[in-house]
Amino acid sequence: MTAREGSLEAPTRHPLDWKSDDFYNEEKLDKELERVFDICHGCRRCVNLCTAFPKLFDLVDESPTLEVDGIPKKDYWEVIDRCYLCDMCYMTKCPYVPPHEWNLDFPHLMLRAKAVKFRKGGTSFRDKLLSSTDALGKLASIPVVVQMVNAANKTAPVRKVMDSVLGIHQDRILPEYDSAKFRSTAKPDASFPVRDGQQTPGKVAIFSTCYVNYNEPGIGHDLLKILAHNEVPSIVVEKEACCGMPKLELGDLEAVQRNKELNIPVLAKLAHEGYAILSAVPSCTLMFKQELPLMFPDDADVKAVAAAMFDPFEYLVLRHKDGLLKKEFSKPLGKVSYHIPCHLRVQNMGQKTRELLEMVPETKVTTVERCAGHDGTWGVKSEFFDQSMKIGRPVFRLMGDAEPDYISSDCAIAGRHIQQGIDESKTGESGAGGSAEKQHPITLIRIAYGL
Ligand code: SF4
Ligand code: SF4
Repeated sequence: MTAREGSLEAPTRHPLDWKSDDFYNEEKLDKELERVFDICHGCRRCVNLCTAFPKLFDLVDESPTLEVDGIPKKDYWEVIDRCYLCDMCYMTKCPYVPPHEWNLDFPHLMLRAKAVKFRKGGTSFRDKLLSSTDALGKLASIPVVVQMVNAANKTAPVRKVMDSVLGIHQDRILPEYDSAKFRSTAKPDASFPVRDGQQTPGKVAIFSTCYVNYNEPGIGHDLLKILAHNEVPSIVVEKEACCGMPKLELGDLEAVQRNKELNIPVLAKLAHEGYAILSAVPSCTLMFKQELPLMFPDDADVKAVAAAMFDPFEYLVLRHKDGLLKKEFSKPLGKVSYHIPCHLRVQNMGQKTRELLEMVPETKVTTVERCAGHDGTWGVKSEFFDQSMKIGRPVFRLMGDAEPDYISSDCAIAGRHIQQGIDESKTGESGAGGSAEKQHPITLIRIAYGL
């Protein structure tokens, strides 16, 4: 047997074998964890990606044997709980991913462990609550309730109680809810003639996402304005549920399936009718492009949806390549510090947001391609908040040092986290408000168009 480092072939991601009994067999899981942890201990390339790997290497260094076999199995959870499934180790570092014979998929092994824990009932109420984005959004965006929730989230004594009772860190700035939900206030314009390009369908359906629908509907409205300005007919997907990513990160794979059964028939119909489906949250887009196809490899409708799914900037830049995008921008953006979130990087489509922002005259884009350390809910949790801010520190510094007019990330949650980090590093106070304005890249393009 030749043990060769790396592979000259493109990585092949194997489907997730989540329906088999072996997947949930704890003895087999422990054996696989030990095998993979041992390879990682010998490699250590990922030491600076997140806090999961440093924790693993500390556990090895503290073990009586100085090897993985000396780590008590219960301590494996210290590593697993630190993984927020960003996929960066798999996509950017690991030379042992399939087709390499060592067949290493670290994120999916962590996911399997989380699924085992969920099935055993070991998942906390807090984690279940935070991953119920749709239910939380529905409740928190009810008029009157919305003011109470937004005020409570900014009130120190309430946040102290939330910290001690729920485990939601008191210093984490939380997104506001909006009672004018995107899906009930959106004004898509389907009146333009359909102009298919070589690389882009000529009509668009918007998958709103929980975040845009309940927290920042403005991002969705801005996307609709950009599409109308470019005379692309658009509709909002008639019925939708959460994409399932927060449930996937929790290991609740049955809930992912339930949401998939609500979303896929509606989206597949649109895909078959020739729509491009756009989602403005990279994690949700990734869910449809990558995770659902890996969970349901034989489902033709899941495949059709994956093929029709676009990140908005991927769509707009391809539209430009098709010669169908307007490039007359009336307002320069000045200095933009732009962050590419992990779940966009792993979509393997290049830096499409940066490309479009750089088409705006008198605009200088500083691009930071590094994990900011928030993840959807991980950086909100009391026990991980400090680690989340620590992982983000190099990003805060690189983006803040550019003295930007705007701070921007395709992941709106990461954008808020980065602003909090920059503000704290400049003023020592969270939410103190530095001079840079935080805006989503879609909003920046709407501003640049003068809309
Ligand atoms: S998937 Fe991301 S968080 Fe998880 S171990 Fe890999 S790099 Fe760390
Ligand atoms: S995931 Fe791969 S690259 Fe990262 S430490 Fe483990 S073996 Fe090395």
